[in-house]
Amino acid sequence: MFGLFARKDPVCGMKEEKGKGFEKSGKWFCSEQCSKGYEKEAKQTKHSHGCC
Ligand SMILES: [Zn+2]
Repeated sequence: MFGLFARKDPVCGMKEEKGKGFEKSGKWFCSEQCSKGYEKEAKQTKHSHGCC
């Protein structure tokens, strides 16, 4: 099982590394590009599953 501290970039799957990347909305991203991609995807998911 992964510990609470082992987070990874939900976009590219890179493991969190100290001194690299940044945190946004409780998630870790390796780069600005990945966080933007994640936000984009989240919005699209909301739309496609927007039943309620
Ligand atoms: Zn990434």
